[in-house]
Amino acid sequence: MAPHLLYTRPGMGYQRTIRRQVSVDGIGLHSGEPVKLTLSPAAADTGILFRAADGTLVPADIEHVVDGRAATTLGAFGVRVRTIEHLMAAAAALGIDNFVADVSAEEVPALDGSAKPFVDLLYSAGAVTLPVPRRAVGVREPVRVGDGNRWIEIAPSDVFRITYTLDNPHPVVGCQVVSLEVSESVFVDELAPARTYGFLKDVAAMRKNGLARGGSLDNAVVVGRRSVLNDSLRFDDEFVRHKMLDLVGDLWLLGRPFTGHITARNAGHALNHELVAAMVDALAAERRQRVARPQTQAAGTLAGRLERLMPGNGFSSHPGIAAL
Ligand SMILES: [Zn+2]
Repeated sequence: MAPHLLYTRPGMGYQRTIRRQVSVDGIGLHSGEPVKLTLSPAAADTGILFRAADGTLVPADIEHVVDGRAATTLGAFGVRVRTIEHLMAAAAALGIDNFVADVSAEEVPALDGSAKPFVDLLYSAGAVTLPVPRRAVGVREPVRVGDGNRWIEIAPSDVFRITYTLDNPHPVVGCQVVSLEVSESVFVDELAPARTYGFLKDVAAMRKNGLARGGSLDNAVVVGRRSVLNDSLRFDDEFVRHKMLDLVGDLWLLGRPFTGHITARNAGHALNHELVAAMVDALAAERRQRVARPQTQAAGTLAGRLERLMPGNGFSSHPGIAAL
């Protein structure tokens, strides 16, 4: 991607964090393990920072994505945090830029399989505006990743819109198309309740590979041969809406609000990550070109964030952190 494609949009308001610490318990969709998630307020430019039970910090950015096959998995120093995307989507839509997310096991709880419980959790935590502007990103020309069947394209726009086509040969899913301008209220009403889904025929193979071990009708839509096994769907086109939710969550790995019209077809986490990686590369290239301008030191680096977080914020230094 050429560096001039991306630009920083002024006037997108100020960064926010949550007002108070909140927790929720559940089980991991893939691991099946019980897990407690606790969100705590954090300073501007912290971003979303996961903290494992042993204290290892794992930033929610594209550099720390280690797996995108069935969910978005982060990793650092041998520690993994799986299935972060529904929490990330809620944070993105509610405009929460910064918090620390403690997880007692290696996966974010599945809860009901949608982003709705995370929306409720973040609303219960409240929000605080921080005295640092958000650095939103826009595109000047269309950007595309993928191939003929699965792709994502971003076109310039002053708003954040997603037009998504999910075209699945399974008769229960079929071809579903939704186009929405994703404001906070639209996300909360139209996307957040859409649950993750899986096909009954794949469950045995997935479990063998360490996936879907916590999956059930309580936290996923399960698609049988001719119908869904759940009592009902929350939307007729719940499947494509969940794909949009996942995309919103994965885009938050950019750590910056984003405007543009995204058109996607049959994408998934791996392709979402490819898009974010391309945008991060373009931003880095753009930064290198702006040699004449003075730069803020370490604003977005983990070292910079930790400097601001420590001391007195409950953070202990990790022996491996210097390696970053
Ligand atoms: Zn999902």
